[in-house]
Amino acid sequence: MSKSVACLLFFALIGQGWNAVGHRAVAGHAYDRLKKTARHRVDDLIRKHPDYQLLVAGATGNNKERARYAFMSAAVWPDTIKGDPRFYDESRRDAKPTPVLAGFPDMQQRRNWHYINKPFSPDGTPLLKPPVPNALTQLHWIIERIGNKVTGEASVEDPVYLLPWLMHVGGDEFQPLHCVTRFRKGQLDRDGKPMGDLGGNTVILLGGQNLHAYWDDSLGGTPSPTYVEAVIKQLRKQDREKKPILEPAVWIEEGLAIAKRDVYSFGVDGGTKEDPVKLDDHYKIRSRKIALQRAALGGQRLAALLNEKLR
Ligand SMILES: [Zn+2]
Repeated sequence: MSKSVACLLFFALIGQGWNAVGHRAVAGHAYDRLKKTARHRVDDLIRKHPDYQLLVAGATGNNKERARYAFMSAAVWPDTIKGDPRFYDESRRDAKPTPVLAGFPDMQQRRNWHYINKPFSPDGTPLLKPPVPNALTQLHWIIERIGNKVTGEASVEDPVYLLPWLMHVGGDEFQPLHCVTRFRKGQLDRDGKPMGDLGGNTVILLGGQNLHAYWDDSLGGTPSPTYVEAVIKQLRKQDREKKPILEPAVWIEEGLAIAKRDVYSFGVDGGTKEDPVKLDDHYKIRSRKIALQRAALGGQRLAALLNEKLR
């Protein structure tokens, strides 16, 4: 098997970011905090999205409830296109572009927009800089354009295309493992160079789940509307920031600090199939608490950002 094929198989199995519950909850929490003008603007952007019919599929209730539901679905959209044959993974060496459909600028999956591998090491292993593009470069790029006028032309710079990405990638960065990669002694790639743990994707837990997936699922795993609304209720109970921080570089630095302090609190040893990490009850309670705090903050900050940009 060629190296690139092995890599692709591996990447196909790795975690994707907050699961649908996490993304829907962050977006719903944000939507509930939008001012009227921003809410009208986002509703209009979502209605113009080429996949609008997919975004409202399953929505019930009056127009306002349907608009909120579509907004929440839009926040999951960048994950759903990873498994959608209309789209292709442009980062593969053998990438074959799929036909461009009406309303889309292209059919790229943009998998490298979802995270940034800020490196750290507990044991002095040499670090590699995060590749570009990444969540930080793209969030800056999106935020600069999200308030632009809709042109009616399919473009990656158009707010219609960018809004789901802002909600998704913005949300992802509040899952601490979307901000980091941990380097350890002896953790090498096939060429013998230091390799990060890919945001915890290569750290195996007792039971077979990996650390990244554990955190992705930390708000629960059933994306039914009732469950998601229950999570949003929990988010409303979390502390609020008086003046929400709108700079994604700060969100990511916070994620890095949380990762070092809490996410990897089990230490440097283990994490292989033969010697999986066992998370104790204290860790599980703490991780759930952190996930709720971060998701609440994410929703609050994204809402503040939209209120600021879509006036
Ligand atoms: Zn993601």
